[in-house]
Amino acid sequence: MIASSTIDQLKSRFRGDLIAPGDPQYDAARAVFNVTIDRRPALIARCAGPADVVQAVNLARQESLVLSVRGTGHNVAGFAVCDDGLVIDLSQMKAITVDPQERTVRVQGGCNWGEVNDALQPHGLAATGGFVSVTGVSGLTLGGGLGWLVRKHGLALDNLLSAEVVLADGRLVTASARENDDLFWAIRGGGGNFGVVTSFEFRAHPVGTVLAGIVLHPTATAAGAIRRWRDLEAMAPDESTQGALLFHFPDDPSVPPPMRGAAMVGLGGVYAGAVEEGEKVLRPLREYGPPLADMFQPMPYNAAQRMADFLWPSGLHSYWKSSYLTVLSDAAIDVLVDFFSRVPSPRTVIVLEHNGDSAWDRVPDSATAFGNRAWPYNFVVTSAWSDPKEAERNIAWTRELFDAMRPFAAQGAYINYLGGDEGVEGLKAAYGAKLARLAALKAKFDPTNLFRMNQNITPASVAQGTGN
Ligand SMILES: Cc1cc2nc3c(=O)[nH]c(=O)nc-3n(C[C@H](O)[C@H](O)[C@H](O)COP(=O)(O)OP(=O)(O)OC[C@H]3O[C@@H](n4cnc5c(N)ncnc54)[C@H](O)[C@@H]3O)c2cc1C
Repeated sequence: MIASSTIDQLKSRFRGDLIAPGDPQYDAARAVFNVTIDRRPALIARCAGPADVVQAVNLARQESLVLSVRGTGHNVAGFAVCDDGLVIDLSQMKAITVDPQERTVRVQGGCNWGEVNDALQPHGLAATGGFVSVTGVSGLTLGGGLGWLVRKHGLALDNLLSAEVVLADGRLVTASARENDDLFWAIRGGGGNFGVVTSFEFRAHPVGTVLAGIVLHPTATAAGAIRRWRDLEAMAPDESTQGALLFHFPDDPSVPPPMRGAAMVGLGGVYAGAVEEGEKVLRPLREYGPPLADMFQPMPYNAAQRMADFLWPSGLHSYWKSSYLTVLSDAAIDVLVDFFSRVPSPRTVIVLEHNGDSAWDRVPDSATAFGNRAWPYNFVVTSAWSDPKEAERNIAWTRELFDAMRPFAAQGAYINYLGGDEGVEGLKAAYGAKLARLAALKAKFDPTNLFRMNQNITPASVAQGTGN
């Protein structure tokens, strides 16, 4: 509950919208990507700019409110919304300013990657965002930022030049290599623990047209196809970021047979160099089998970033498990293929990523709070279903699969792929030895743990644990 007199006080200075239970927009404003998350905030402060964010942070601190921060609400753990507290909603803060000469782009906290790359494409530039277009810039960057340019240009956070941050005490500061460099270190991997980032300044890269797409194989030959992808990846140049996916095509009339509703393995991604060079590099992957279909073609980068969007539609229940792999052995591939043959939901996708042996692991490990650059392969099980009654069956299958993969799993996970039920073990897996420095910086910038609706790093003076 927030007293109506308090809300009135905020209203007098607030330029954006204040949305409370009973307002017509309330249910849409509290909904997030993962529909399992059903939280009822006392107030949603849809900010128009940094000054609104400062007002909202001050209110939450002064009134000891539970506070959550929403970029686009895309994270499956659902920390963007809270029960009975205040949500700082950045969804209307979408300004994007491109500097083509300097090859930089400044982006407000409510943007997604599709919007950013749409703004960059006319200049022949692209930013290292996600593998899909609808993921939020904010959460993705603050946790890491894997995407189709990761092997050529690193993570989104490796390309962050500066950020504007509203701290727990209400100050708006710049974090960069020159100003507040400790804060700059912490926000590059430490998530939303240190303040609300109102805008990000990124380095952009000359990436206009890329060779992008996927080859499809039936699941009966999936293990061999994934092995072939793995062996080619081991030699692939930085320009090539390719993944392997086990998924079902939607059972939808817009999808032609034999793909409609079919289980498939897809091998593909982006070659971010000269198209003719990409044709040569990707030929062995595209000729193997031969595949049922070869969908590689030259396309603008902002189209390539949308090619996998159909696999993760909004409006579904989600539960994710993920870990880096010490080794992508034949046995590990067999486990994934075997489990996929009895996947309870056709909306579930198993993803294998190869990020390493590239620009990603040439960044010194100590440069940012992001952990685990040593492991080149990552797997993520993105379980999804529509009927809430199916939750138990899908979650049980996901956990069984994750347990079966433990022999191949590294002691390391990507914070943005965690499902939210890992607790302190998830933090240890994501940050390892860096957790102590992060907790000390948390004590400096947010000693009362105002920003705790996240993969929470408790301030160093408090016993380490999750504060959710
Ligand atoms: C379908 C799907 C595809 C994905 N693909 C990728 C991918 O290709 N690569 C990748 O790296 N990750 C990917 N992810 C994971 C993604 O990085 C995280 O879900 C990320 O948190 C989403 O960012 P968001 O701003 O939408 O998050 P939100 O759900 O809005 O927030 C996530 C967390 O960040 C905090 N936060 C958000 N904005 C701010 C801010 N401005 N300041 C401070 N804290 C903030 C929130 O409080 C919350 O704790 C994907 C997720 C999904 C569901």
